[in-house]
Amino acid sequence: MITLYYTADYELFMGCNHLSPQQALLEPTADLLEQCEQWQIPLTLFADVACLWRFRQWGEHDFVELAEGQLQQAVATGHDVQLHLHPHWLVAERQGKGFHFPANAYALATMATDEKECARHIHALVQQGVDYLQALLRPVKAHYRCTAFRAGGYRLDPRRELLLSILSDHGLQVDSSIIPGYRQAGVDFSQEPTHPGWVMGPMFEVPIAAATFTPWQARRLGWRGAWREAMAIFLQHPSRQRGEAWPLQAVDATVPAWKRAYWHFHSRINRTFAHLAMGEDPWVMRKVLQHFLQGTDWKETDCHVAIIGHPKAMFSSHLTALVQFHRWSLDDYGPHIRLATLGELAAQRVKG
Ligand SMILES: [Zn+2]
Repeated sequence: MITLYYTADYELFMGCNHLSPQQALLEPTADLLEQCEQWQIPLTLFADVACLWRFRQWGEHDFVELAEGQLQQAVATGHDVQLHLHPHWLVAERQGKGFHFPANAYALATMATDEKECARHIHALVQQGVDYLQALLRPVKAHYRCTAFRAGGYRLDPRRELLLSILSDHGLQVDSSIIPGYRQAGVDFSQEPTHPGWVMGPMFEVPIAAATFTPWQARRLGWRGAWREAMAIFLQHPSRQRGEAWPLQAVDATVPAWKRAYWHFHSRINRTFAHLAMGEDPWVMRKVLQHFLQGTDWKETDCHVAIIGHPKAMFSSHLTALVQFHRWSLDDYGPHIRLATLGELAAQRVKG
């Protein structure tokens, strides 16, 4: 049996936001939730709680209250909200539409060089996060518990063991931060298991599915997306983007747009690694899931797989793709696939 967890990181852009926080986060999340309700997809929102705390300190009460209301509404209608920690918000300062913070504050495990001090920071933050979500959500769902976690920027490391043991001390059961095979600055998941779900220390890991294709497969699957993105760069379509990731990538204005578009197309078309994200190409999503489950007897064994989305970066084309992916998944796996929230998985593990 495959259990597929639709998850979305409920967060703003960390570099800068071109729109108001309402437009950058609340509106696209409302669209995603509406689509999920229509197709009876339970969604787990990983709420970037430290952002909400910081915005409250900055006096952005309207945004924070609307966000809290949206999270409550999501839980009241059968979705789930769990903990996502981007610790840099605690020390972030605003700079125009952007944010400024020291790089070491981006990951939980590098907040302090001294291990004990770091542990104290993580303890305090996890405790605050759990208390905050439970106080916010129990009025709408009496037995709500914060039991699942996703590390901000997938930064489980370094000090993974420490982090997992602290999470477990605070009652968290499930982690969903790992994309097997994924490697990017600050993250190296090249040595992780590629199973659909495994016990990782005191927690259970629900990986975000991923696949490495042959160059030929990658081109066949990716050319449409590569073309679309290159055209957006060529036509200089910044209006579509609601914000920028951190660290901000300076665009070299001396390089003409056609050249940047060509470079992007070239690197994108040669990218053989893909993870299961709510993108605009449903056939890519379908293939990633198929590849990830290849070699697993998913009819007979319990498989746990997550798909990740970022509402801040989603538009109507993403929602259309998501519905197509959902329908194909039901066709492809029939009675062997079910949907659940990560909170439901954690509750089951406590019972079982
Ligand atoms: Zn995040």
